[in-house]
Amino acid sequence: MATLDFEIRPNPAPVAATQRAALLADPGFGRVFTDHMATIRYSDAKGWYDARIEPFGPISLSPATAGLHYAQEIFEGLKAYHAPDGGVTMFRPEANARRMQITCDRMAMPRLPEEAFLTAVRLLVERDREWIPTQDGGSLYIRPFMFATEVFLGVKPSSEYLFCVIASPAGSYFAGGVHPVDVWVSAEYTRAAPGGTGAAKCAGNYAASLAAQAEAIEAGCDQVVFLDAVERRYVDELGGMNVFSVYGEGDDVTLVTPPLAGTILPGITRDSVLSIATDRGWRVEERPYALSEWQADAESGRLRESFACGTAAVVTPIGRIRGADLDFTIGGGVEGPVTRRLRETLLGIQHGELPDPHGWVHRLL
Ligand SMILES: *Cc1c(COP(=O)(O)O)cnc(C)c1O
Repeated sequence: MATLDFEIRPNPAPVAATQRAALLADPGFGRVFTDHMATIRYSDAKGWYDARIEPFGPISLSPATAGLHYAQEIFEGLKAYHAPDGGVTMFRPEANARRMQITCDRMAMPRLPEEAFLTAVRLLVERDREWIPTQDGGSLYIRPFMFATEVFLGVKPSSEYLFCVIASPAGSYFAGGVHPVDVWVSAEYTRAAPGGTGAAKCAGNYAASLAAQAEAIEAGCDQVVFLDAVERRYVDELGGMNVFSVYGEGDDVTLVTPPLAGTILPGITRDSVLSIATDRGWRVEERPYALSEWQADAESGRLRESFACGTAAVVTPIGRIRGADLDFTIGGGVEGPVTRRLRETLLGIQHGELPDPHGWVHRLL
């Protein structure tokens, strides 16, 4: 495919610098957006076309737009950072571009070329670089997404799509300190079954998780943890984060995490944690992990730490696990040293403060 040329349409009324500074002082998560967005259209007839950077704003759609009815809607999430030398970097963006292609395959959507994904993200971040928070731990959260735009109510893969990238400044997830999360084991709901869409980053997985997440909140927990859909015995993942348990201490550490067997999302943070652990000489086991094993080992004290990980929350300790007839604490409910070490290493690499032996940091500016 020929390289796409992006047309640049600058926002004629960008947010004023003083107002932007006020928004950046406390951006929270996902409510403040930058001045621009990237868009690329697709049709079966033309392929990918009309690549643009344009003002952030509403998208007008027919009520009969296929994506609104049959959920051909997928997304990605990654971050851009200020480098210590004043430049701008991103963390493993090519891994997000590749994962989106795999998600496209599962959802019967056309693959967006990796180069188009990366160019759209780069041009948007370049244009809106003033929106990257400068405070400690701040980043610009980037949300690429794609959905079916054919106006047709027949059930089939759409013949038209819109790929879009928006960006939202985010403060440090750990601004108020590191707080272990309590997770709720859902007895009623599962997230993904074998043969389903659990390994695809599609909007529908999130819709399917919300009733269980609401149950978790109702029970006073922060997040839901899903069990496998077949036996309801093995830990899969949280609604939007992968999960690890830590055995041993000092140099003799083993990390256990559920395998990528089709029902969990192959997290880029998960993959990075596995690499960092291996670099340190720790053992890693990707294997089925039963809830009963989790509980027995936590109660015997053999298991000292568990954590959840993903782009938004980086590495976050799990303090307590609860369910209908289940309640146990891990490591006294406080963060353990292995979790802290992994989080600090990952954040240090992402923010350019530690060496990057795997070449994960992608220089933009
Ligand atoms: C995005 C996501 C993750 C984390 O993936 P990262 O690439 O590490 O951000 C984990 N689980 C689910 C269900 C997700 O959608």
